Amino acid sequence: MNKPSIYMDHAASTPTDPRVVEAMLPYFTEIYGNASGMHRQARASARALDDARQQVADVLGCSPREVVFTACGTESDNLAIRGAAWAQKLAGKGQHLITTPIEHHAVSHTFDQLCDKFGFEQTVAPVDKFGVVNPADIEAAIRPDTVLVSVMMANNEVGSVQPVAEIGAITRAKGIIFHTDAVQAAAYLPLNVDDLNVDLLAISGHKIYAPKGVGILYVRKNTPLLPALTGGGHEHNRRPGTENVPYIAGIATALTLIEANRAAENARVAALRDRLIAGVLGAVPGSQLTGHPAHRLPNNASFVFEGCEADAILMHLDLAGVQAASGSACTTGMPTASHVLTAMGVPFELALSALRLSLGHQTTDADIDTVLALLPDIVQKIRALNPA
Ligand code: PLP
Repeated sequence: MNKPSIYMDHAASTPTDPRVVEAMLPYFTEIYGNASGMHRQARASARALDDARQQVADVLGCSPREVVFTACGTESDNLAIRGAAWAQKLAGKGQHLITTPIEHHAVSHTFDQLCDKFGFEQTVAPVDKFGVVNPADIEAAIRPDTVLVSVMMANNEVGSVQPVAEIGAITRAKGIIFHTDAVQAAAYLPLNVDDLNVDLLAISGHKIYAPKGVGILYVRKNTPLLPALTGGGHEHNRRPGTENVPYIAGIATALTLIEANRAAENARVAALRDRLIAGVLGAVPGSQLTGHPAHRLPNNASFVFEGCEADAILMHLDLAGVQAASGSACTTGMPTASHVLTAMGVPFELALSALRLSLGHQTTDADIDTVLALLPDIVQKIRALNPA
């Protein structure tokens, strides 16, 4: 019997949409001029850049001048946070930052470096048991010297959607810069930057069916931002370096396709996710859903399983052809519980059993059936081997 190949790790990366590949292809071999030049080839590249910037601006509801292309989501987060924090500090505005304990390391490690090495201070507002931050806690953390707040739009491990627009209303009223990491949200949630009340918003190509190695940072007009790189005047002096036109054409096409199909795809994927969640919770004793039961990304089904290590589940699933992820990491032989689950109050041992099934464009009803047929037996088998 042929083993299935079921990909349920779209939160880690997505395949590049063939329509995106097609949109990129001319810019490798036909139109390859440096967009800063004067001649015909250069002008063709510059036109492609302008078109891509306009496409992104249309989805974000902003001006094309507010769109900065980067090399990944990590770079977008770094540029936003370090750039805004330093610009504010140099302007004498203050050096206090606010964030949450569930951010991706692209955000949290940037905050930590600013604080540990460069004299900034941070307040980490708590999250509830569903991994959701309360806007009142952000408001309570604000000080006269607060210069930047960063709260992700949706969490990468448990899928909980954060009240970004409400937090943005608070920061806007106080004149504080607000950054959101929309890397996981971009494939599913509306991205109008005015509705979201954000000043800085980060997107990554490879989470939205564009290739790895390209990202977007939205920078609201007049937001102070010290560039991380110095060089030419590319990206309106925000991010120097010759523009990666094929990848930029790719991410703009991907975002446009996502926006056009958002409602239909969200409904389709959410129905699959709900069947998966109900099936797992019904068939696996000692299983719990992690993240918010309702306010979660349509493609995220994440669980913990009492008495069952995630690595063992992943290995058995992989052997059966199902590719998924855990929330924990084992870097030096010592298992480490996910910082997200820990912040939500999940006990250490239970956090080591975290499984994330993230669905996507190619997920079918048959995939859900297969996983539901496999998972209860896998968990039972692992528990039988480790009765303790
Ligand atoms: N932020 C979040 C929430 C993510 O999930 C990721 C990637 O997993 C990143 C940032 C980093 O994006 P990239 O892989 O493009 O650097």
